[in-house]
Amino acid sequence: METIFTKIIKGEIPATKLYSDDLCIAILDIAPVNKGHALVISREPYPTIGDCPPKTLIRMMEIVKKLDAAMHKELDAEATNIVINNGPAAGQEVPHLHIHIIPRYSGDGKRFIPKKTAYNEGEIADYGRKLHL
Ligand code: 5GP
Repeated sequence: METIFTKIIKGEIPATKLYSDDLCIAILDIAPVNKGHALVISREPYPTIGDCPPKTLIRMMEIVKKLDAAMHKELDAEATNIVINNGPAAGQEVPHLHIHIIPRYSGDGKRFIPKKTAYNEGEIADYGRKLHL
């Protein structure tokens, strides 16, 4: 499957590359939440985490950790948001697995805190059983 990110990986469209190896690349997001907002992208166009081999996910998280450190060191980030929109219903626009790393600063006015819901009586135990691994 071709995506905007496979075109970037093939060099067909330009991007500011931060990292590249056999399993993933990292680039700057073209429309940053804050400047320096980066994306770690699997080389293969797995749509979601569920499609991606653990080996690739592990490598991607290693690069996320390095970019998090670089954002603290080079951009004076106080924190980061590390986000995967994992499927269209979760707001994923590009159907090709990628991890956002967004530098954050106190008072920068960005919000990543969804409105919360509440369990009905006894419901949390049902969810616990369903999701127990
Ligand atoms: P999603 O909503 O799928 O999690 O995020 C897709 C991200 O890709 C968005 O933050 C968007 O700004 C970024 N993006 C989309 N097209 C391009 C592009 O052509 N180049 C770069 N560098 N980023 C892109």
